Amino acid sequence: MNEQIQPFIEGFAVQLFQRDLIDWFEREQRDLPWRKDKDPYKIWVSEIMLQQTRVDTVIPYFHQFIKQFPTLESLADADEEKVLKAWEGLGYYSRIRNLHAAVKEVKERYGGKVPDRAEEFSKLKGVGPYTTGAVLSIAYGIPEPAVDGNVMRVLSRIFLIREDIAKTKTRKIFEEIVRAIISHDNPSYFNQALMELGALICVPGKPACLLCPVQEHCRAFQEGVQEELPVKTKKTKMKEVAISAAVVVDSQGRILIHKRDREGLLANLWEFPNCEISSKHPKEQLEAFLKEAYGVHVELEHAFAALEHEFSHLVWNIVVYRGMIKSNVAETERLKLVSEEEIHEYAFPVSHQRIWNEYKQSADSFRPV
Ligand code: SF4
Repeated sequence: MNEQIQPFIEGFAVQLFQRDLIDWFEREQRDLPWRKDKDPYKIWVSEIMLQQTRVDTVIPYFHQFIKQFPTLESLADADEEKVLKAWEGLGYYSRIRNLHAAVKEVKERYGGKVPDRAEEFSKLKGVGPYTTGAVLSIAYGIPEPAVDGNVMRVLSRIFLIREDIAKTKTRKIFEEIVRAIISHDNPSYFNQALMELGALICVPGKPACLLCPVQEHCRAFQEGVQEELPVKTKKTKMKEVAISAAVVVDSQGRILIHKRDREGLLANLWEFPNCEISSKHPKEQLEAFLKEAYGVHVELEHAFAALEHEFSHLVWNIVVYRGMIKSNVAETERLKLVSEEEIHEYAFPVSHQRIWNEYKQSADSFRPV
């Protein structure tokens, strides 16, 4: 056993803990669609969706996604545009781009079978140690740790660990602890039970210790310090970016949309024309930008919405204008005029879906005359 974790494990009743945890999970687990079978592809999809998105939000997306792409092959063979559209609303698009690339690799390199060896599975695009542990343990019954923020919170309380969980090296300690205590008879339920405990009982802030199935194993509870854990240093302040965006229409009521770059943030998603504000005249700056970047002359009206959209590392503060197109538009693969019906066929990031919703809802919706 790893020396670093020896003091934590010493005197810990591993088997009793496994039994209490798994018995509780068998009784209380939620009825979730990805728990219906052990298809590694579906479990993989659900785990990727659940990163940064709540279970309640994921459920309808999961049903819809699996209906559209029922097998790994069907996802591997699908057009990127369709795949991005199916993900629309879940955000953090790099997740689906990586998953799409990874299933293609599984199809080509492994004949469509999701690898059951950690060394192979963990090398696929977008697959980190948590996803490796979750998919391998749940789908294949392999005792690999699946440690995310939830599991670190639970274990930091049970073992009274005060290491900063914001640090990468801390995760290793928790992974080693899970390796030492995971049930080899039922690693799938063991990992899922830890996740479920973190979601339902051992929640952030005030955990529901009186309902907890592993209360008698919990050192933080015994010391009365469960609410002080886990220790997590604050994120550094996020960068704020001011943006002007516009919904502009031509004389036939068609809307100008643009496809983002092939690389970088929100790559290949569609958006309403926009630019970063660097002057005191954001409206005029955006008009000049549209002329320069797309050769389109527009006249912008008043701003009808101001939105804030948060990413993991930055915040967009977007002011949105409406306006009319006053020149011809030379359409390309990445610059299009679309009708209000057609716009629904294009995948937009969440921030630009919000722009569209605001536009539709604004009472004095502008109509060309
Ligand atoms: Fe979490 Fe409380 Fe259970 Fe300890 S007793 S694991 S703090 S819910």
